[in-house]
Amino acid sequence: MAAARCSLGPVPIPKMGWLIGFTGAIVVSAAAYWKRSLSLSGMIAATLMGTIYFGAGNVFWFGILLLFFITSSLFSKLKADRKSESEKSYAKSGTRDAGQVMANGGLGMAACVGNALWPDSGWVLFFIGVMASVTADTWATEWGSLSRKPPRSILNGKPITAGTSGGVSLLGSLAALGGAVIIGGAGWLLAQWAGLAADVGKPVLLWIVIGGLSGFAGAMIDSYLGATVQSMYRCTVCGRSVEAVRHCNEATVPLRGFTWLNNDMVNMISSLAAGGIALALGKWLFGVV
Ligand SMILES: [Zn+2]
Repeated sequence: MAAARCSLGPVPIPKMGWLIGFTGAIVVSAAAYWKRSLSLSGMIAATLMGTIYFGAGNVFWFGILLLFFITSSLFSKLKADRKSESEKSYAKSGTRDAGQVMANGGLGMAACVGNALWPDSGWVLFFIGVMASVTADTWATEWGSLSRKPPRSILNGKPITAGTSGGVSLLGSLAALGGAVIIGGAGWLLAQWAGLAADVGKPVLLWIVIGGLSGFAGAMIDSYLGATVQSMYRCTVCGRSVEAVRHCNEATVPLRGFTWLNNDMVNMISSLAAGGIALALGKWLFGVV
């Protein structure tokens, strides 16, 4: 796609970027739609998002989005039949809609556009934190649901039903750390490629530490909010605690949390926090910006 013209130095003229972004985004989104990783609304949102990530940004922003998106889609297909039972307790299935696409990529897009309007290395740091967090959280959810042991509550450490918000497992936590670290490392690599090195040309270890810490913290904040203030419902048929407003073909009843605070909003709040943590780490601890 863009490899030939982007392989050396800064990414090219802006107008070309929009075209490259649109082409790349529509190919990936359509493939994801075909594989049922995205709904129709999800496909449209992801195409729009990818176009902006490359058009207003460059291979750095787009590459991180792509890494998050492809790994999350692949992992959600892991042992799909084993997961289907616990996934019924979640608000959404493996097929992501526009709301979910925005919850995961919306803040990153804001950072990308912010950087285009008012260029500053701070946007890059914030973006790494946000994307490390959404990646960590998604990897944790997908891998955690494969854990053979029941997850434990992040509040009191007691075992709880798999699929319940606020549950953490060793496998899920390791996956969270892995996802966060990968985003940090990939950020460093893509920054060299995109020619951001002049701004944030620091050692790769620094990127890994910043991505790892902020992303892992974001995933833990997500679990904590999931266990405390996120809306949860009880199914009147099977009696399970669920995130969905319908279960077993019946409307569920509110159990706890704020009814307006759903999983997508918790995702956005925790990734916003992770972006702030990455910015703080880079700015005050390591003096990157
Ligand atoms: Zn039910």
